[in-house]
Amino acid sequence: MGAQPLGGVKGFEEGASPASRQEEQGERLLLHICCAPCATYPIRRLRELGFAVSGYWYNPNIHPWQEHERRRECLVDYAGRVELPMIWQPGYEMPEFLRRVAGREAFRQRCAFCYEMRLTETARQARAGGFAAFTTTLLISPYQEQGLIREIGENAGRAAGVAFFFENFRQGWAERGRLSKAYNLYRQSYCGCLYSEWERYRPKGDEMQSP
Ligand code: SF4
Repeated sequence: MGAQPLGGVKGFEEGASPASRQEEQGERLLLHICCAPCATYPIRRLRELGFAVSGYWYNPNIHPWQEHERRRECLVDYAGRVELPMIWQPGYEMPEFLRRVAGREAFRQRCAFCYEMRLTETARQARAGGFAAFTTTLLISPYQEQGLIREIGENAGRAAGVAFFFENFRQGWAERGRLSKAYNLYRQSYCGCLYSEWERYRPKGDEMQSP
């Protein structure tokens, strides 16, 4: 079955099936996806570059569980609409995420562990699945530490024996907004972890308290 035509949405109107895409396109690439809106531009861009793209969901940082599910369900719908093959990590490793960031909850410091957890697992999945390379939608956000993501991704790739693909997806940030609106995707108001939710909604001037 071909892609559903969407009026006004560029790039996804072509009717190739996933199977025919795989035949037409070149190397297989595994794309770690943090949420559907951030996946919009990278999927299109990577396909333009000739990759046969598959998505990978693994985000134990997202808090609370209902928010995790809301973002995941939005991606289930979107992946179907753009015919993106997906690998879904089962379960919810939130306790492990909290253990890793315990004692280093400050913004940026905790993010390094958050990136490492997700990209290490993506690299492992890419290697196990015989992908030529992997990358992440985290590279599109101007709110993320892109240099750190690249460094951690490259290290994870070296350790797993699979290449980390880097491109500055931030060039597609405006297009991400346009596509998200066109597809009517759920757009969250905070990054994901409980700390980022608190930072988003805390009273002005409030600081995190340590025991
Ligand atoms: S702010 Fe975002 S990247 Fe940083 S630890 Fe929280 S969820 Fe992870």
